Amino acid sequence: MMKQGNLMYIQAKNTPKNISIKTSTRNGGFSTAPYDSLNMGYFTGDDVTTVIKNYYLYENITNTHKIVTLNQVHGNDIIEVNHNNAAEVLFSKADGLFTDEYNLPLGVITADCLPVMIAGEKCISSLHCGWRSLNGGIIDNAFKLFQKHNDKVIYAYIGAGICNKCYEVKDDLINQLVEKYKPAECLTKKDDEHYLLDMKKLATNALMFNGLHIDNIEVSSHSSCCNKELYSYRLENGKTGRMVTTIVKNK
Ligand SMILES: [Zn+2]
Repeated sequence: MMKQGNLMYIQAKNTPKNISIKTSTRNGGFSTAPYDSLNMGYFTGDDVTTVIKNYYLYENITNTHKIVTLNQVHGNDIIEVNHNNAAEVLFSKADGLFTDEYNLPLGVITADCLPVMIAGEKCISSLHCGWRSLNGGIIDNAFKLFQKHNDKVIYAYIGAGICNKCYEVKDDLINQLVEKYKPAECLTKKDDEHYLLDMKKLATNALMFNGLHIDNIEVSSHSSCCNKELYSYRLENGKTGRMVTTIVKNK
């Protein structure tokens, strides 16, 4: 955890050269309860001008300027973004971003869902991964874009999200999980109807399904649910703020 004044953020450790990945925390912003205080989600019910102030502060302190984010919809669409279309792409309904450009931070907004950030030798991608997007193949779609750009994925980061002790799901969800990501490895049975789902493991399996070696996958130990410095949608019954996780390729 990095600290500058009252503002704290998490930084990925094993990123390739020139790649920077950061996640904001709740600390050091302007939003009031239940969004207190560094809410980075525009579509949460929080005052929008306050969210803009939070971004202004966070971008300046972390030197991560003009973060592109989406209006996330739990789908599997990924948008290719560059400096020319970034304004147009901003707030589009989709769950993934992809770019081959420098100094263009791609952002994922979460409070329990996983930010999955992927780096190739040339390109980067940011994915908002709830179970629906993961299960719907958003990670496969990202790998197809790297392939389209003749790039090879060298690293992935699974950021702060809900942990394997807090994400209880019912068998109606389990029955929808596709076999290719080996969901059986990610489930712990609680009783006849309830299971615990390990989302970080499911995302890891989806990355490995696409050929990425486990040694090239960094999994954050931070849990949105168990860490009081992070927002948890589940714990706070949907009335809360969001973190932003960014990936940027610096020149
Ligand atoms: Zn937890």
